[in-house]
Amino acid sequence: MVFDCDAFDGHEEVVFASDKGCGLRAIIAVHSTAMGPAIGGCRILPYADEAAALRDVLRLSRGMSYKACAADVPFGGGKTVVIADPQTQKSPPLLRALGQSVDRLGGRYITGEDVGTTVADMAEIRRATPHVMGLPEEKGGSGDPSPSTALGCFVGIQRSADHVWGKTDLKGARVLVQGLGNVGFNLCRLLAGAGASLLVSDITRDLVQRCADKFGATPVDPEAVIGTQADIYAPCALGGVINDRTVDRLKVKIVAGGANNQLESGHHGAALRERKILYAPDYVINGGGMIQLAMERLGRDRVETERRVRNIGETLAKIYRAADAENTATNIAADRLIEMKLSPRAPEALPA
Ligand code: NAD
Repeated sequence: MVFDCDAFDGHEEVVFASDKGCGLRAIIAVHSTAMGPAIGGCRILPYADEAAALRDVLRLSRGMSYKACAADVPFGGGKTVVIADPQTQKSPPLLRALGQSVDRLGGRYITGEDVGTTVADMAEIRRATPHVMGLPEEKGGSGDPSPSTALGCFVGIQRSADHVWGKTDLKGARVLVQGLGNVGFNLCRLLAGAGASLLVSDITRDLVQRCADKFGATPVDPEAVIGTQADIYAPCALGGVINDRTVDRLKVKIVAGGANNQLESGHHGAALRERKILYAPDYVINGGGMIQLAMERLGRDRVETERRVRNIGETLAKIYRAADAENTATNIAADRLIEMKLSPRAPEALPA
């Protein structure tokens, strides 16, 4: 059930934590500490069953190892899921009980914010363990990581434009931003500042209106995003947006945005390449928030953080060159570069 789960992939440690008093039912997965302590957020969701929660935590913690490696920070990958409804079942005692479970891992895993948790929740967890990141600024943390995620996406879009059109200048480029939450809105601000022409979509009308008012963006109906003509599509809402139903209907040259798990399946990366659409691997381009949190943990300042976030552009350029050289999809090229770095047996094969 655990070892045989298709997402297990050699996890170092999987902990099932419970506390009857506050109703905690959590799974903490530590995929790898080879590069340093495992980092990854805490997701609180009313999963349909334990198997769904286990699959999710294993898949996400493995993804964090790849993301940390791509971001070149000295951390490994881990993740926590709590089986609960964050609206009705999240409570300070539950968060503190979770903090105690994290604490028992002795620093091999550091938790943080994710779907269903907030920066304020991290302050509650901090009462039970020092192994938590993403604290509010007034508590000595670096605050909301979304602006760093958006900055990484912005430089990633510039670098992608350079690869396709030979210039990083986005003046006049039509960028379709799907999802105008924490990442999407900050990305729109940066794109508008660079002179891009924005097409924006969200299921929340107020957010669309805010972008129209502030940046002169053109609203796109959520149902019409796929099929809308643009130069660049920046998914910043949900995962799985590139799938069998959408890939042939895209009318863009670049897919580069902040959402996690944009490809429903790995082979959709190849489908994009076949259609000559450049795909910026999601876990590389959206690593800015993780870099901010890692730098917070290491006590580095904002200047160093921004320098490293901007380096996402160089990492993408390396991946695009490798994909072209091997005539393979960019998601495959990215995985290969990361696996080479993670493999202790092949140090001579490290990319320059
Ligand atoms: P958010 O919840 O603030 O924003 C998501 C937005 O997407 C919301 O405004 C929501 O209304 C909108 N949305 C949902 N379904 C939609 C649809 N069908 N069409 C259009 N809009 C829709 O989340 P966020 O923090 O901005 O994160 C966005 C994505 O980026 C997520 O996939 C998240 O996992 C990923 N991500 C975020 C960070 C970060 O630093 N916040 C870091 C890495 C990855």
